[in-house]
Amino acid sequence: MTTTSADPSATAAASGDLRIWVNGTLYDDPSAATIGAADHGLVVGDGVFETLKVLPAGPFTVGRHLDRLTRSARLLGLPDPDHDQAREAIDAVLADRAYELGKIRITYTGGRGPLGSQAPFGPPTLVVAADSIEPLEPTTAIVTAPWTRNERGALAGVKSISYAENVRALAYAAERGGTEAILINNAGHVCEGTGSNIFFVFGDDLVTPTLEAGPLAGITRALVIEWCGVREADLTEVEARAADEVFITSSLRDVQGVHRWDDKEYPTTRSAELAKIFAERSAADLEP
Ligand code: PLP
Repeated sequence: MTTTSADPSATAAASGDLRIWVNGTLYDDPSAATIGAADHGLVVGDGVFETLKVLPAGPFTVGRHLDRLTRSARLLGLPDPDHDQAREAIDAVLADRAYELGKIRITYTGGRGPLGSQAPFGPPTLVVAADSIEPLEPTTAIVTAPWTRNERGALAGVKSISYAENVRALAYAAERGGTEAILINNAGHVCEGTGSNIFFVFGDDLVTPTLEAGPLAGITRALVIEWCGVREADLTEVEARAADEVFITSSLRDVQGVHRWDDKEYPTTRSAELAKIFAERSAADLEP
């Protein structure tokens, strides 16, 4: 069941467009939306999440995101999230709001737990938040992070809330004029960005790293593979840098051309064509 906090009109001005639902309660005042201080997500980062885009027609690929939330939860040994409840929460945060472009963040943790790494006691915590966002630039600059992605780690391929490594790497990229940091894995192959997958254009060939290399199985990645025909192969940094073009994908970036990778400039013509195909296909169907 969803209940609503106080008078929405009284809080809307202070909170902007951000609206948060926590364990069955919708808060129009985001500062009133809280979880317990002993939540295992807060104490040790024991939780998983999803980020999805909201278009004027509604949220994009909810089904795929909830399925991945379940896969991530299982990999952390958490109980399966309740998809009906998550959908109810999404409807609640979007109710009476029209977003030109928005984002939804779903966070699912083990709930209350010990002040250490032993298993949480539960029940799980489910948080769903919605906010408006600005469209991103069609092309961007990326920077190689000095740290590696561990493709054999327990969190490889898990959309875990333990994202401090990504926060660190993204800050490193931002300090160098990039909007994304690219991580090389321990085997020396290009893996992914902190919040995106990476693709390379070689003539007519499109290539993206295999899932064995440790990237998240991106939903945008899967759609680009399906709609544009992409070969999965692992490339060293040197091989990857020799690409004609490079682009990155994510639920909020869609297909975004890379005009600069570290100190090398790239054209973005083919990336723009692929971005157009993605925009057309995704606008035609919210649940492809
Ligand atoms: N890789 C990582 C580490 C991510 O966090 C994300 C999403 O934020 C992606 C890739 C792209 O995945 P998706 O296209 O499902 O958003």
